[in-house]
Amino acid sequence: MRDPRYDILFTPIKIGPVTAKNRFFQVPHCNGMGHAMPLAHAAMREAKAEGGWAVVSTEECEIHPSGDLTPYVEARLWDDRDIPALALMCDKVHAHGALAALELSHNGPTASNLYSREVLLAPSHQPSKYGYPSQARAMTLHDIREYRRWHREAAIRGKRAGMDIIYVYAAHDLSLAMHFLQRRRNQRSDEYGGSLENRVRLLREVLQDTKDAVGDSCAVALRFATEELLGPGGVELAEAKEIVGMLAELPDLWDVNVAAWYNDSVPSRFAGEGAQEPFIDFVKQTTSKPVVGVGRFTSPDTMASQLKRGVLDMIGCARPSIADPFLPRKIEEGRIDDIRECIGCNICVSGDMTISPIRCTQNPTMGEEWRKGWHPERIAPKRSASRVLVVGAGPAGLEVARALGQRGYEVSLAEARKELGGRVTREARLPGLAEWARVRDWRVGQIDKLANIAVYLDSALTAQDVLDFGAEHVVLATGCHWRRDGYGRSNGFAIPGLANNPRVFTPDDLMDGRLPEGRLVVFDDDGFYYGSVAAELLRLRGCEVIHLTPDDSIAPWSQHTLDYRHIRKRMTKLGIEAMVSHDIVSYDGTTLTVEDVWTHQRRELACDAVVTVTARVPDDALYQELLRREPEWPTAGVQSLRCIGDAEAPGLIAHAVYAGHRYARELEEPASGEVAFKRHFHTADADDLLRGSPA
Ligand code: ADP
Ligand code: SF4
Repeated sequence: MRDPRYDILFTPIKIGPVTAKNRFFQVPHCNGMGHAMPLAHAAMREAKAEGGWAVVSTEECEIHPSGDLTPYVEARLWDDRDIPALALMCDKVHAHGALAALELSHNGPTASNLYSREVLLAPSHQPSKYGYPSQARAMTLHDIREYRRWHREAAIRGKRAGMDIIYVYAAHDLSLAMHFLQRRRNQRSDEYGGSLENRVRLLREVLQDTKDAVGDSCAVALRFATEELLGPGGVELAEAKEIVGMLAELPDLWDVNVAAWYNDSVPSRFAGEGAQEPFIDFVKQTTSKPVVGVGRFTSPDTMASQLKRGVLDMIGCARPSIADPFLPRKIEEGRIDDIRECIGCNICVSGDMTISPIRCTQNPTMGEEWRKGWHPERIAPKRSASRVLVVGAGPAGLEVARALGQRGYEVSLAEARKELGGRVTREARLPGLAEWARVRDWRVGQIDKLANIAVYLDSALTAQDVLDFGAEHVVLATGCHWRRDGYGRSNGFAIPGLANNPRVFTPDDLMDGRLPEGRLVVFDDDGFYYGSVAAELLRLRGCEVIHLTPDDSIAPWSQHTLDYRHIRKRMTKLGIEAMVSHDIVSYDGTTLTVEDVWTHQRRELACDAVVTVTARVPDDALYQELLRREPEWPTAGVQSLRCIGDAEAPGLIAHAVYAGHRYARELEEPASGEVAFKRHFHTADADDLLRGSPA
C-alpha cells in the first residue's frame, strides 16, 4: 500500500508528555468561523483529524478582552464560558486519534479592541498596527504580571477543554511575546527592554509559566518567527539564531516560520514549495526538541526529504490541509494521485480577511462540513439511472462531471476546445500562475479513473446537439469572456473608441496569443490579480507598460490574498509604471485621454495599445437558446437544465468549482429550503448554544 520511501512520515514522535502518531502537523490557521461558529469550526477540524493529521491546531486564540481581534473571528478563551466551544473541537479531533493544539495569543498593538473597548497594550507607546486612529499604551510592570496571569489561566482553560498541545505564540508580528522581542516595538528601559536578554525575558517567562501550569500533561509549543524581512528593527535571522540558542530546550516543540503573514503564506505566484527552508533550517541544529515548519508542502517526496535531510521533524501544513484534509491518509494508503494539491491562490486567506467562513478553490467542501454536511471525500450515491450532459470543461464543468461520476451517474462531458480546463488551462500559462493548473489536473486524474464519465473534446455543442443527445439533466458550464468596451465598476457605459478598436486587447486576446506591442496601458478596473499579470506578461515581452486604475491603489482586492505587497514589489522591479486614481475618457488608437477621478483634470498619453481588464460577459447563448426551446424538452427527454459557473455569473475559479460541486451534490436530492445551510444562533449563554444546536 504505502511506498516505503514515505515510512519516515509515519513514525510516531514524542512531543513533551504527548506523542503524535505521525509527522503530519496541521499548524494553526484562521478560518473566519472561530468563536462565532463553534460547531462549524469543530467539524472542519474533525475532517483534518479523520484525514490523518497527527496534530490539529486551532487558529490564534484570544486570551483576554484587551487582546480582542474584532472584526476578525478567531478562537477565544477570555473566561470559562469559552471552554465548551474548544472542548467540542477537542472531542472531534480525539475521536480520530489526533492531538489537539491551541495557539494562545495576546495581540497587543495588533489587536483592535473594537468590541471590548479596552485600551490597547504594547511594550511601549505606539500606534495600533492596523490603521485604527488610536494608540496602544506602554505596559507597566503590573500589566506584564497581569498578561502572564491571563496567559497562564488561558493555558489551564485550554487543558480543561482537552487540548494536548498549548502554544506560546511569538510569530507573524501578531503577539506580545514577539512584540517584546522587536526593537521597533519595544523601547523600554527596564528589565524587559534594551538588551536581547531583556527583550527575550517575557517570552522565556511565559514559556516557563505555561510549562508550570499545564506541562505535566500538555506539550508546550513555541511558534517563533525567525525573520521579518524588514532589516534592522525587525527580527532578523542573526538575532533569531541567538534567541533560539537562548531558549533551545525550553519549549517541547519549535514551530518556526517567517513573518509577517504575507511572507509566511506567500501565494504560488511569488514562492514555491519549501521556500522557507533557508530561514528555518538552522533551528534543528540548535535544539534537541522536535521542529515543525511550513512550506506549502504537497509532495510526499519533498516532505520525506525535509525529514531525511534533518530540516524538520514534522511537516507543518495549513493550506495543503485545507485543499486536502485527507492528504496524510492518501500518502499512507499509497494514493498519491488522489492528493488534491493546494494551488497557492490564497482564496482561503480571503475568508479571514473578509470576515467570512473559509473557502478553498481546490476543496469546495472546506467550511461546509457542518453547515451543509459536505464531507471532503464522501458523497451520496446517485438517486436514479438518469444521464447527465455537462457542456464545458472548465473548473465548473470538470467538478460537476467528477463529483457526479463519484455519485455513480452516467456523465457525458463535452468541450469545444481541444484541451480540458477552460480558464484554468488558459490562465495557468500566464506568468506565475502555472500551479493553478492543479485545479484541472486533479479533476482530470479523478475523471480518468471513473468508467461512467465519457469526455468529448473538440465538441462545440449547439442547442440542437443538446436536444438530440437526450440526457435527462443538462448542465451548462460554458464560461465567459472579457469585455472590450471598458464597461465596468467605474464606467457604467462603454468608453468611446474602445469597442471596435484593433488596438484594444482583452485578457482573452493575451491568452489566445494575440499580443500588443510598444507603449501601452493596462486599464485595470477589476482590482484583483489580472491587471498585474497582464502588465507583467507584456513587460516581460519588452513593452513599455503603464498600469492604470481608477482605484487609489493597484490591485486593491489582492490585499485579501496577501498578494498585494508582492505585486507592488514585482511591478516596481519590472519597471511598470502605476497610474492610480485615473479613468479612461477615450482612445483613438494612438492617443489615450485619461482623467484624474478626483480633480477631473484630463491629460493625453501617446499609447500604441490598451488592454482592458474591466468586466466579463457570460457565454450563455446556448443556455438562452435552450430556454427558448423549452417546449421541445419533453420530447427530447430533458428534465432539467442549469447554467452554472462563469456562464451564470463570472467570478473566481473558487466560485466555479463550488458551483460545480453544489450542482453535483444537489442533483435529484430533496430541496433544502430557502436557506441552504445550517446556521449558528446566538443565545444568552454559550453553553445553551452548544446544547441547543444539533451537531
Ligand atoms: P468556468 O470557470 O465556469 O468553469 P470556463 O470558461 O473555465 O468556465 O470554461 C468554460 C468551457 O466551456 C471552456 O473550455 C469553453 O471552451 C467551453 N464551452 C463553451 N461553449 C461550449 C459549447 N457550446 N460546447 C462545448 N464547450 C463549450
Ligand atoms: Fe490552497 Fe488556494 Fe485552497 Fe488556499 S484556497 S488552500 S491557497 S488551493
